[in-house]
Amino acid sequence: MPPATDHDLAALAALCAEVEACTLCELHATRAKAVPGEGDPASDLMFVGEAPGYHEDQQGRPFVGQAGKLLEQLLASIGLTREQVFIANVLKSRPPNNRDPRPEEIAACQPYLWRQIALIKPKVICTLGNHATKLLTGDPTGITRVHGRPRATEIAARSLYLYPIFHPAAALYTPAMLTTLKEDFQRLPELLAHAAPQTGAAAPPADAVPAAAADAEPAATPDAPPAKPEQLGLF
Ligand code: URA
Repeated sequence: MPPATDHDLAALAALCAEVEACTLCELHATRAKAVPGEGDPASDLMFVGEAPGYHEDQQGRPFVGQAGKLLEQLLASIGLTREQVFIANVLKSRPPNNRDPRPEEIAACQPYLWRQIALIKPKVICTLGNHATKLLTGDPTGITRVHGRPRATEIAARSLYLYPIFHPAAALYTPAMLTTLKEDFQRLPELLAHAAPQTGAAAPPADAVPAAAADAEPAATPDAPPAKPEQLGLF
């Protein structure tokens, strides 16, 4: 992965400042701190969670509570630290009492995430749980059906893999989910090694579901929804 350019670093810093001052939805009124996201600004691997919780809201940093500890353990299991990846959320402000994000909040916050993706240029985005997965795939199918299956897609004019996995917070209290999350996580290195895909152009891996080039949609703009993803049978 090439280092982030000065231009990209400045644009990311400006984006953070914008998020911290954002009043586009009601959540700005109840948050303690906005949580723009953090990590390696040029990482090949990005994680997208749902929304800040209590601890994240207090500190202005993503995944610093119990779910964050589990995420760090999972990263360590594949030889990575949180500083080597970029961690963000669908919502940059905490919903009161950790309620589910509302559609209008997701819509207001989405351009920030798309701009982060355009600047960080990850090869793989791991979506954590239902909200991130549905937003980034543009598909309402729930995480239980799609976890552990990478899809080639284009977001913010970047070809990349989406890799949906269970949310660490959900797995904390459900042993079967935790086992599945650990298994799905172990496949990340292989996916990263395989990245980056050229949607509709690259030779698919031997066991991939053939990608229909004719179905590929044009690159998305930073504010547009993702192109229809192509399900790959990598694993
Ligand atoms: N859960 C999330 O989805 N994001 C965080 O930052 C923390 C917990």
